Amino acid sequence: MLKYLRTGVLPFLAAASFLLDGGLTATADSRLPDAARAGFADKLYRLDCGHSLANDESVWTPGENVGRSIKFSSTCWLIQRGNEWLLWDTGVPESALNDPKGWSTLPELIVYHLDKTLTDQLAAIGLKTTDITYVALSHTHGNRIGNVSLFPNSTVLMQRAEYEWISSPDGPNDNVNQLKALARKLLGVPQHLQLLAGDTDVFGDGSVNLVSTPGHTPGHQSLLVHLKNSGFIILSGDVVHLEENFEKDAVPSLNTDKAASIASMERIKRMIATYKAKLFINHDKAQSDTLKLLPAFYD
Ligand SMILES: [Zn+2]
Repeated sequence: MLKYLRTGVLPFLAAASFLLDGGLTATADSRLPDAARAGFADKLYRLDCGHSLANDESVWTPGENVGRSIKFSSTCWLIQRGNEWLLWDTGVPESALNDPKGWSTLPELIVYHLDKTLTDQLAAIGLKTTDITYVALSHTHGNRIGNVSLFPNSTVLMQRAEYEWISSPDGPNDNVNQLKALARKLLGVPQHLQLLAGDTDVFGDGSVNLVSTPGHTPGHQSLLVHLKNSGFIILSGDVVHLEENFEKDAVPSLNTDKAASIASMERIKRMIATYKAKLFINHDKAQSDTLKLLPAFYD
């Protein structure tokens, strides 16, 4: 059913299958690059993947901000390395463009609005969807995988744990069950799918690394990118939603594993220290509004 194509990630897959077959657990930090030797990606672009309004912030800050509404940003990222391109997350479906009703993963809780399409933003820098080598998914919530079907030629990179989770039997949290059902529908079975087992060095030179940070979902991942002028940047996925939550280790009630969520936040804190990295938090609107937006880029 799955096709393992293209180069770059293949050496990792051989290692991954050894680890799985051997019943060993990967020692996560050991698979991240040496800061002094990591290669460089060329450019990092922020794409506007919409914005949302949620009616109860306490879902993301348990015990605080009950009934208070909050606006979140929604961001996708595009990385150029040589003549290859990696897109990090794909936003809500483009069919939501300028729809005044918006689009939702959980209609009673949160509504997304989309002012620009991914396709148009790629075109603004001369790219077609078929130019994208890799589509890497932080996780399978609908606001990340809404446009995977626009990239049938790209290799989709996601954690095996995430792929298996969305097909697993329903649990006690009905919101989570709804999110899984939506994920199965939006993701389908990508033509070129690579299922990963933990940290993955995408280009084999330490420039772009998928970092296992489970807890928000079972196969959630973040991304570490190394740039010549900007240094190391960590793209959060949803390892945290707001800078304040990161400081307090606050775990949203929708997360599938509280202890794993806190461990992943601690891991990101260690990485910030090790790599002197900046953390770009996907849904933190106050921070996102200060960051460069395509066609501007980080290099
Ligand atoms: Zn999420």
